[in-house]
Amino acid sequence: MGVGRMKGWRDRFPCGVSRIWLYLVGWLWVAGCTSEPSARESALPPSWRLAQDRPSFSADSAYAFIEAQLRFGPRIPGTAAHQACGDWLVAQLRRYGARVYEQKGTYKGTPVRNIIASFGPDTTRGRLLVSAHWDSRPWADQDPATAQQPVPGANDGASGVAVLLELARLLSQRPLPYPVDLIFWDAEDLGREGVENSFCLGSQYWLSAPAPYPPQAYEAGIHLDMVGGRQATFLQEGYSRQYAPHIVQLLWEVAQRLGYERFFPPLPGEPIIDDPYYLATQGKIPMVNIIQRDPTGRGFFPEWHTVRDTLEVIDRSTLQAVGDVLVAFLYSFSPRHLRPQ
Ligand SMILES: [Zn+2]
Repeated sequence: MGVGRMKGWRDRFPCGVSRIWLYLVGWLWVAGCTSEPSARESALPPSWRLAQDRPSFSADSAYAFIEAQLRFGPRIPGTAAHQACGDWLVAQLRRYGARVYEQKGTYKGTPVRNIIASFGPDTTRGRLLVSAHWDSRPWADQDPATAQQPVPGANDGASGVAVLLELARLLSQRPLPYPVDLIFWDAEDLGREGVENSFCLGSQYWLSAPAPYPPQAYEAGIHLDMVGGRQATFLQEGYSRQYAPHIVQLLWEVAQRLGYERFFPPLPGEPIIDDPYYLATQGKIPMVNIIQRDPTGRGFFPEWHTVRDTLEVIDRSTLQAVGDVLVAFLYSFSPRHLRPQ
């Protein structure tokens, strides 16, 4: 995740507009949209209930999965720590009964190791994709003093992976009746601001190389990034609203029914160039990106791309909210519910 992801948002504006004006326009846009009536319209009848027999997401377990990743050190592609963490991820997923496929190759000169863990029926239709990126950024370049040091990536990387691992644990205990793939993207955070398509190399590689299931196999997908920060808010990211508005509405309504509107306010956020952007535009998969955004539109989380992205920034209550919403969603719906009505 980098400033490069803001490119789609910047593209809406003519070159040379100063950043302060963009912030102001962004803030006014968000503020102006808070009264947008469609954001609060219900997609579900009042009598509809969440599945009651769903498993319980453990934030303690997810937290422990973050700790385990950090113990390897920064997960930078090409390093021994990255190799060891990838091996550990594969072993964990196999332990939870997944069919694990490692998609390895080189993309734009970078080694890529995507890890795909499949659960449920082996079918090329009606699959659901849940993803996160498992690499961490080599440069803490949001602070010039530490720009050559790696980011620990507790929130930016490890938090999404941890929620997926906890979900794998639950899927092993309470299988879903439909096929779900947990995909751990590699090489997401090696981008440089201003260099076209330099972030998200793993998902771009997946779109160009053979994998167990092609993009057409997926009915929909949910991507998690930075889902463990203190006092996080997850706005309805712009490309998600564009390419998967029906799923955005369902997810945020599930959050509201669980009492998590504080974390999931039904407010629009600006578009972000991220893994789901490529999956939606090139792979034609309706994707929702659950990613922390400051409601004022000024950034991700305060420690983003700094050496301070450590366990200190992680709050179990945020992991719990995201995990509960994800589990309630997966166990209450099936991919056929996720087709546009
Ligand atoms: Zn990042």
